[in-house]
Amino acid sequence: MRAPLAELYDVFSDHLCQLERITRISDHYQAAERDRGAGHAVNYRRQLRRLEKIVRISDQYQGMLRELNQRLEWLSHRDALTGLPNRRHALMRLREEHVRAQRGGRSFVIMIIDIDHFKDINDTWGHELGDQALTAVAARLAASVREYDVCARWGGEEFLVMLPDTEPCTAGDNAERLRACVGNDPVIIGERQLRITVSLGVGSCRLGEELAEFMKRVDDALYFAKHEGRDRIAFAA
Ligand code: GH3
Ligand code: MG
Ligand code: MG
Repeated sequence: MRAPLAELYDVFSDHLCQLERITRISDHYQAAERDRGAGHAVNYRRQLRRLEKIVRISDQYQGMLRELNQRLEWLSHRDALTGLPNRRHALMRLREEHVRAQRGGRSFVIMIIDIDHFKDINDTWGHELGDQALTAVAARLAASVREYDVCARWGGEEFLVMLPDTEPCTAGDNAERLRACVGNDPVIIGERQLRITVSLGVGSCRLGEELAEFMKRVDDALYFAKHEGRDRIAFAA
């Protein structure tokens, strides 16, 4: 009995050894898998943080681009010298107001304002002082209109003022206010006091009248004001 029992014991010991080896290998494998899993989680969190940072930076860039575009859009409607809305902007507002007024059966007023003998100012005092004088006149005009009126640099030493939704009978008072705000007090630039005057062509749009036709009438009125001696207002026929 002893011999078979010893043999059985040996076989059992062998199996036990093998089982222990397999258990050790399995434990190692599980530990390695756990470590790898933990490594993946760390990597995943790191990548997530990177991604969040990239999204934040991209949001900031988009915000900056939006602001830049708004600023460019604003600048494209401004005159660089005087800071007034430019001709492009004035034309856009004129077209809008023309459509609105025609549709609503209302009227609006425009004035084309031209500085008198401006060439003489340049010739006498130089172009740089001319620029300063132009800017000073622009500021006076802009300060003399209402918030919802348009006061734009129409070109050279000409300005366009549009008074939306305005009855023709009030055009004269408005034009006189603008003439006086430039001509009544000398423009002071450094030590110089310049007497500057403007001439104005003024008109209100008729029902059914094309914008170009209306503008032409006002331009003709300005020409008439110049012809009549300047520093005055002429109403479109
Ligand atoms: P009028 O009374 O008939 O309007 O005479 P004027 O001299 O004002 O008119 P003219 O058209 O003969 O001359 C306009 C002058 O305005 C000539 C031009 O050099 C000057 N001018 C136009 N734009 C600017 C500008 O941005 N800066 C300066 N300094 N001068 C300008
Ligand atoms: Mg002029
Ligand atoms: Mg002119």
